[in-house]
Amino acid sequence: MKILVTGGAGYIGSHVVKLLGENTKHEIVIADNLSTGSADAVLYGRLVEIDLSDFKAVEDFFKNERFDAVIHFAAKIVVPESVENPVLYYMNNTVNTIHLVSMCVKYGVGKFIFSSTAAVYGEPEVGVVTENSPTVPINPYGMSKLMSETVIRDTANAYKGFRFVILRYFNVAGADPDGRIGQCFPNATHLIKVACQTALNARDSMSIFGSDFNTPDGTGVRDYIHVTDLASAHIEALNYLEKGGNSDIFNCGYGHGSSVLEVIKSVKKVSGRDFKVVSSERRKGDPALLIADNTKILKTLKWIPKYQDIDFICKTAYEWEKRLLVK
Ligand code: UDP
Repeated sequence: MKILVTGGAGYIGSHVVKLLGENTKHEIVIADNLSTGSADAVLYGRLVEIDLSDFKAVEDFFKNERFDAVIHFAAKIVVPESVENPVLYYMNNTVNTIHLVSMCVKYGVGKFIFSSTAAVYGEPEVGVVTENSPTVPINPYGMSKLMSETVIRDTANAYKGFRFVILRYFNVAGADPDGRIGQCFPNATHLIKVACQTALNARDSMSIFGSDFNTPDGTGVRDYIHVTDLASAHIEALNYLEKGGNSDIFNCGYGHGSSVLEVIKSVKKVSGRDFKVVSSERRKGDPALLIADNTKILKTLKWIPKYQDIDFICKTAYEWEKRLLVK
């Protein structure tokens, strides 16, 4: 198949491109505006610098290339930024996705894999969520993804030739075990990256946002999933659609989690470094616990995660962060 990967120069997209290049014979074309991604991260395929908001260029691209499948990553992902500038998120994430879907319909691209997020669940009352749990996003980022999901689903209902897999990511972390690619996004706010930067003295200290949650040690619990396992879920999704699988939505997580304290302990262990940790107020909108019920993806996509050990996730994240500092 000829596959378009939008956002393939970014964190998750580049890991998917690597697995596609290593394990499949598909022709890979990467479309990225390089706003946050980097050409160096594209290890396989042909990179085309294109902005999905340039509808004319995107249409010419679809007309000329004739893709069989699209894996759509390109998106803005910073929650506080989405609160400050919602229109940017709805334009970039939702409007561009609507246009991309319309191009698939117009040019006969029958398979669509979409990066969605556990943020569509908002602050769930029950911390372990299934794909049927209520979707009530609490910020424009989550809503921009949920709106895109709706457009994709309705389009598949209307056009028999268009099928999708939507993957709702939980807390993606870690880096390529070969050390070739990782997360380069500046001004990181995600726990594991922040902890690794603190271990490397790139920050003086780090904060624990809330120690009085209703969890075993009082700190927030999340389902951290290694980026290579998440990437392999996309390969399985592609296989599933290739074999004629029905359109569907899947949670992408391990079904178990780690607390903030457990993550910090792990980063200290794998780095061999102690660092300063201070207690802070809870962050607005942070649920106590968010874990994927992953029964459906394990059964339907036959996805076999390999890197569930939190120490391994933190170790690969740390090694990558170390490389970034010496670059
Ligand atoms: N967290 C923290 N300190 C940080 C960053 C995050 O205590 O510097 C906590 C946060 O409150 C949550 C968990 O770590 O309980 C994961 O947060 P992250 O921002 O990595 O992902 P989110 O779950 O918010 O998408």
